[in-house]
Amino acid sequence: MNLLDGKIVSQAVKDRLKTYTEERLVQGKKAPHLAAILIGNNGASETYVASKVKSCAEVGFTSTLIRLEESISEQELLFKLTELNDDFDVDGILVQLPLPKHISEQKVIETILPSKDVDGFHPESVGRMVQGLPAFYPATPYGILLMLEHYKIETKGKHAVVIGRSNIVGRPISIMLNKNEYPGNCTVTVCHSHTHNLKEICLQADIIITALGKPEFLKGDMVKEGAVIVDVGITRVPDASKKSGFSIKGDVDFNDVAPKCSYITPVPGGVGPMTIAALMMNTFKACAAKD
Ligand code: NAD
Repeated sequence: MNLLDGKIVSQAVKDRLKTYTEERLVQGKKAPHLAAILIGNNGASETYVASKVKSCAEVGFTSTLIRLEESISEQELLFKLTELNDDFDVDGILVQLPLPKHISEQKVIETILPSKDVDGFHPESVGRMVQGLPAFYPATPYGILLMLEHYKIETKGKHAVVIGRSNIVGRPISIMLNKNEYPGNCTVTVCHSHTHNLKEICLQADIIITALGKPEFLKGDMVKEGAVIVDVGITRVPDASKKSGFSIKGDVDFNDVAPKCSYITPVPGGVGPMTIAALMMNTFKACAAKD
């Protein structure tokens, strides 16, 4: 069993971006600028946004963190986004999800200019991605591709099983894994909460991507010998032994599955850091596209 180490690969991506950014500055061009909006006080969201802002500093990007009250109206938030759309210096905009219930996620996603949509959630970005056109890929699936590429995982002709069909992970990664170039060309099966015979389907998989948010759902007896396992799941479970009071669990029962597979991502330290690296990559591309 080999580890697909998101910390190592994300660092390699960030090192590359740092060099590219330094080259831009030498050429008299601006540094990429990411604006992040954080609404309310969700602990997990705070952590994710803090990591994104820290990563910007590491690679030499400018970042602006905009903290808004949980009570902000949808109209006020959309107005803020319009201001960021109009701000030439801002290259990428992200709004940390989930949003308060009174705000429409779809309206927020559609208000961000596609040219600044570094999370890759805008319908225009998704449509372009589906058609194989240059696009901002959603950060988590893009991070998974960067990781498969780094470890030179063969995907051509392989059977990939994706568990979960959300707009941010399951559905886009299923499309990206069957695009007609590396890493792609898989035969993809998408499973979800209404799938029958999930275990039998998983047993046929060369690559399994779990994105369902159910801690330790995937067990060793659901996995073929030598399979590649990518665990997207992140769930906080109560843990009295931890200072924080919780530990982070993936969707894969790591100790049960690891002995059977060829490659596996740990949680934490697998897909999570890759998501941030992919976001940085998208922000760099958004900036470079304006040169
Ligand atoms: P979601 O809740 O939007 O969707 C879950 C999907 O899993 C649904 O399509 C559902 O049909 C499917 N599902 C639920 N129970 C199932 C079952 N028993 N069998 C088969 N399918 C089932 O989830 P999401 O937003 O895609 O997130 C999934 C997980 O990934 C969560 O734990 C989330 O925290 C994590 N996540 C991690 C990152 C990262 O950077 N590592 C990024 C995004 C999401």
